[in-house]
Amino acid sequence: MNFGCDYYPEHWPEERWEKDGQMMAEAGFNIVRMAEFAWVKLERGKGQFNFSWLDKAIEILARKKIKTVLGTPTATPPAWLAASHPDILRVNKEGIRTSFGGRRACCPNSSTYRTYSEKIVSKMAEHYKDNENVIGWQIDNEFGGDGEKGLCYCQECAKNFRQWLQDKYKTLQKLNQEWGTVFWSQTYTEWEEIPLPRQLETAHNPSLLLDYRRFISDSYISYQKLQIDILRKICPHKFITHNFMGLFNAIDYYKLAQPLDFITWDNYPNLRFTGENKSPVKVSLSHDVMRGLKEKNFWVMEQQSGPTGWQCVDPNPYPGEIRLWTYQAIAHGAEGILYFRWRTSRFGTEQFWAGILDQCGIATRRYEEVKKIGQELMRIKDKLIGLEFPKEVAMLTSYDEQWAFDIQPNNPKFNYQEHFTSYYQILNTLNIPVDVVSIQADISKYKLLIAPALFLINDGLVDNLKEFVKKGGILIVTFRSGIKNWNNIVFDEPLPAKLNGLLGIEVVEYDSLSSMQKCKLKLIHPEIKPLQGECDTWCDIIKCRGAEIIGRYTQSYYKDEACVTINRFGQGCAIYIGTNPSPEIKGSILRWAIEKSRIKSSFQADPANIEVILGRKEDKDYLFFLNHSDKYHQVKLDRIYQELLEKREYFKDSLMTIEPKGVRILCRT
Ligand SMILES: [Zn+2]
Repeated sequence: MNFGCDYYPEHWPEERWEKDGQMMAEAGFNIVRMAEFAWVKLERGKGQFNFSWLDKAIEILARKKIKTVLGTPTATPPAWLAASHPDILRVNKEGIRTSFGGRRACCPNSSTYRTYSEKIVSKMAEHYKDNENVIGWQIDNEFGGDGEKGLCYCQECAKNFRQWLQDKYKTLQKLNQEWGTVFWSQTYTEWEEIPLPRQLETAHNPSLLLDYRRFISDSYISYQKLQIDILRKICPHKFITHNFMGLFNAIDYYKLAQPLDFITWDNYPNLRFTGENKSPVKVSLSHDVMRGLKEKNFWVMEQQSGPTGWQCVDPNPYPGEIRLWTYQAIAHGAEGILYFRWRTSRFGTEQFWAGILDQCGIATRRYEEVKKIGQELMRIKDKLIGLEFPKEVAMLTSYDEQWAFDIQPNNPKFNYQEHFTSYYQILNTLNIPVDVVSIQADISKYKLLIAPALFLINDGLVDNLKEFVKKGGILIVTFRSGIKNWNNIVFDEPLPAKLNGLLGIEVVEYDSLSSMQKCKLKLIHPEIKPLQGECDTWCDIIKCRGAEIIGRYTQSYYKDEACVTINRFGQGCAIYIGTNPSPEIKGSILRWAIEKSRIKSSFQADPANIEVILGRKEDKDYLFFLNHSDKYHQVKLDRIYQELLEKREYFKDSLMTIEPKGVRILCRT
């Protein structure tokens, strides 16, 4: 297990580094990440490179048996570079060039930025290629994380966008046809006429907007490749990764992850999900999305270890919560945990973004908690590296779908990620292990597939889904599926286009509900418990063309019309949910689909408020029980288990008590 922190020795006097290394070693650390924001410390002026301070920090830590991952420092170019070459800075939607002073403010298409990036990365790679204490590289920092999803509207982006379009469509005639530019007289007669989607009082063509998002995503992927190519050539034996951002969707993470050895991500449960929105489920979903990027276990490169904040301070992790988040990550496939960060900075934008230590540098409650985790992991890490996860249920997603919904949410209340999460949450509550994978993944190994809102459809996707169901799989598709082709154009066929054969239905009309409006429905299928409830956001009015009705509306002018259906197709079946029902109704449909698919939950009992995650290794099942609540909970056990953290045995029918924020890892063979 790689266990450590993100370390900024450049923020502290050199005399302190020895003590830092000592305290890290006492906490069981074996790895740090350094230098990802240290460009000016490494290149003081153009071509004036100096690595001596970093060499020294690496050496001090190495003597404590702590290895280093180096970040390439390109997220924060120095002031001298921005002053002499303002063209490296991004231009915003209003056409204003971003000021120097933040981070990740550079345009991925700026040729100047690329040239200087090549130089610093090459110099670093040459300097550290034979240093055995440097084991790998993190490229840049959190691509797409800062400022309007990393979008840029500069001249170089405009030029490259037109080239990107030319490569894709070959001829203007084709582009005009695929985008439907006849609308509002937007037909282009020269490539140079095509605009970047800058600020408008109305709205741009949705096809242009979607291609622009793809182009910007590809620009970051190409910028990352520039660095990967250098590092692979000069340092072929060191790993290369990047720190992703969970549910952020600025970049096609599947494509960004593809050339990396493995992915890492930055996990801040108390940052975005605080108050009523604090959601352990979203953290779990983030872990599963991250594991799905390469269908491979991952690291957490930045794990929250204190209150976060730039201008204001977010809530402090409760006692036990850093440990809980650590085991939650491991339970979902993390094989490296680095806490952000070692010691809270005295200065700069992130003065309130706490590390394990506060500015005063003495051991904190949080340090003691991390040390305890270090001691535990030292003992049990071999059991927890290389965990595998049951491949029975998968949820499908793609960044193209997410961008299309960013451009047109369809209904002000509709949020793709919330919609996706609402189904994931039910599986999570039922202790059903789930993979979240790309629409291009091999889906044949799963029994149950949930594909929420497949707004964009292409032939490859439709064929895969048909093949999956034909061979006995159960597929669940939800409303706003099969609406558009991959260029964001609505099909000239009955909806859901291309999927209506598989689903055995036709959506003859739909009703987009206002935010105050609700509708009612009831489940009427003989195999499902009869249930009545509410639905909101969207109501498809469905005519069955071979499908059976599972649910009907009980209200509005479409009272008695079908809203949930099932269609037998080959050896499997495809369920369509044409509205957004209450969690109870969704749960009822999902439980039925799970039963039909003969999928077992990880743990049969229903420990409310306890997340149960199953990982497997060498014929052993490891069940992680995570108490995210502030209360004690008891779980009745169904057989004999060995508990790893308490080092004890539990007998059948015994009660296991879990304290607030507590963790238990049960092993069954
Ligand atoms: Zn640009």
